[in-house]
Amino acid sequence: TMAHSKALLVLENFIGGKFVPCSAYIDSYNPSTGDVYCRVPDSGKEEVEAAVKAAKDAFPVWSSKSPLERSQILNKLADLIEHDLEVFAQAESKDQGKTITFARTVDIPRAVYNFRFFASSILHQTTECTEMATMGCVHYTSRAPVGVAGLISPWNLPLYLLTWKIAPAIACGNTVVAKPSEMTSVTAWMMCKLLEKAGVPHGVVNVVFGMGAKAGEALVCHPDVPLISFTGSTLTAQRITEKSAPHCKRLSLELGGKNPAIVFDDADLTQCIPTTLRSSFANQGEICLCTSRIFVQRGIYSEFLKRFVAEAKKWKVGNPSDPTVDVGALISKEHLEKVRSYVKKAQAEGARVLCGEGVDSLALPAGNQKGYFMLPTVIAEVKDESCCMQEEIFGPVTCVVAFDTEEEVIERANSVKYGLAATVWSSSVGRVHRVAQRLQSGLVWTNCWLVRDLNLPFGGMKASGIGREGAKDSYEFFTEVKTITIKH
Ligand code: ADP
Repeated sequence: TMAHSKALLVLENFIGGKFVPCSAYIDSYNPSTGDVYCRVPDSGKEEVEAAVKAAKDAFPVWSSKSPLERSQILNKLADLIEHDLEVFAQAESKDQGKTITFARTVDIPRAVYNFRFFASSILHQTTECTEMATMGCVHYTSRAPVGVAGLISPWNLPLYLLTWKIAPAIACGNTVVAKPSEMTSVTAWMMCKLLEKAGVPHGVVNVVFGMGAKAGEALVCHPDVPLISFTGSTLTAQRITEKSAPHCKRLSLELGGKNPAIVFDDADLTQCIPTTLRSSFANQGEICLCTSRIFVQRGIYSEFLKRFVAEAKKWKVGNPSDPTVDVGALISKEHLEKVRSYVKKAQAEGARVLCGEGVDSLALPAGNQKGYFMLPTVIAEVKDESCCMQEEIFGPVTCVVAFDTEEEVIERANSVKYGLAATVWSSSVGRVHRVAQRLQSGLVWTNCWLVRDLNLPFGGMKASGIGREGAKDSYEFFTEVKTITIKH
């Protein structure tokens, strides 16, 4: 390999505590250079079958451990990932295109925290008990792990979202078969290397790499996997729902968003503008919680737009491994083309592109000329019916429009098929409460964005998903409840 400086990284499936090679592989690209740098197993039914069997075999022992024993193992795993935080961050940045700064400060710390959080949370869950004195009865609930959990995660926050599923699943005593996105599989594979040292018994966590339609679907269709936790697109969720229906599987679906920010004329713009820039462009806009429709009250519309665009132009696009860069590469060439096509459509409809794509020029370092980069793009004067205001773009593109009244903006904010997250900016306490109550959105942030307490439910309404995850919600999702009545 010394002579072959461009030796590819080759991943293997992790089944029953062992790395196993696959008969076929998929190319994985470095989004910031456009080079193939890694090969990912192209697993199918056979590999999924082996992984499910390993998970089933491991279930009796793992599920009968005490919560404290499992908690200690999760904490150990958290420590091991944290110890290698920098290596994980570099790998995530290279594999996904995200900036090293984002990977260092958000992705990997959150993956560590997911394990710590559920290691703790599992110790504090309680079940219910009621008394029916006249009947001489007490009723209580008892919760048990469900079995083998199928976990399917996307490419935008690879290890962050995968561990958000693995941690609660195994903390509750389930064993898992995980299928990360074929485009971002490296950090999941790296995590597998730490499992044994953390004390995770063989077969408790199995990872099968490959395509959604093949490996993912084999997992969804497997009769011995009673539960699927999925994060990804609404279209794929529909397919998963269909395919799992014959087995009546339990599903948790975290899907897309078309998240509004509502800026009232009494908002503190010194807070609102930098936060709304982040909510629009963080992680290249590739976060389901990103803002892509900004409604600004008419009185401050032109001032907001002027200041927002001036600040957006300062975001530095370039090599993700440069710690001064704010915007890295998008996930793939196809995705970049798709995001760009929305900007073209907006222009064709008569909207104004105020900065970014097609307006400003993008200067990239020599090594990144073939990467999938795009400037933060702000579009104004877009009609609410435009696809740019209705569909999830999932890139560094945001639309800014004016509104007049509270009543009007609530209706417009709700007039999309999605309902994941919203932000409301105002200094009136009454108004933020009123508006938050009426928005069709699983999460509403007022005067902030992405401030999360993992104790509380996370998830979307309408086409943004089914189910919620969080301390109590994940516990409920990953366990089966039984009501027991005792008569004396
Ligand atoms: P995106 O559009 O953001 O790429 P997807 O929904 O396609 O989101 O992908 C999210 C995850 O779902 C990935 O791990 C992908 O491989 C997987 N996936 C895609 N199609 C299917 C399918 N038919 N069945 C199961 N998993 C799938």
